Amino acid sequence: MPYDAFTHVDYWVFDLDNTLYPPQARLFDQIERLMAEYVMRELRVDAQTAHNLRKKYWKEYGTTLAGLMHVHDVDPDPYLHEVHQLDLSHIEASPALRAAISALPGRKIIYTNGSRAHGEGVSNALGLGGAFDAIYGVEDAGYTPKPDRAAFDKVFTADGIKTERAAMFEDDIRNLAIPHQLGMRTVLVGPAASAPHIHHQTEDLTAFLTQLVR
Ligand SMILES: [Mg+2]
Repeated sequence: MPYDAFTHVDYWVFDLDNTLYPPQARLFDQIERLMAEYVMRELRVDAQTAHNLRKKYWKEYGTTLAGLMHVHDVDPDPYLHEVHQLDLSHIEASPALRAAISALPGRKIIYTNGSRAHGEGVSNALGLGGAFDAIYGVEDAGYTPKPDRAAFDKVFTADGIKTERAAMFEDDIRNLAIPHQLGMRTVLVGPAASAPHIHHQTEDLTAFLTQLVR
């Protein structure tokens, strides 16, 4: 029962993709396809090379975009616009998740490595519009992505997050290392994995949040 571990928390930070909705929604598949198309066209490479480059950039720079900016001087805004042209028609609203988030005490934000517009579009499709006090995208961190410390510093400073009274929910285990260093409670949303910087793990975010406010 993790309740006691969260009694001091009144800042709640949520990643978006594969955190506020499960991988089964397959939304990230669409983003990956659009990213691959972008890389193939702009760098004039075949599908396999594009796939390998994306993997390499994700690993070395945190995101495909960060690698494209570093290595190929790509303009981030047109890229972000293009890779977030998603079909959201199959996304179902989640009133239970909305209720669980609304019941949390304090300030709640989304912080995504996608664009702010992507955060707004997907959270609206999930029926979570208005459930958050703010939504931050990679542009709010000067296009530096999580897991870079500078990205967290920029967003948390802008929002006034007091990290020692904050919790972070994420599906990418890498993106919980700095939050842990900053004194946040860390919750891995996804299959169990063990790392010293993971305090809690759940595959059911709604159930996890609901038991916190019971
Ligand atoms: Mg994610």
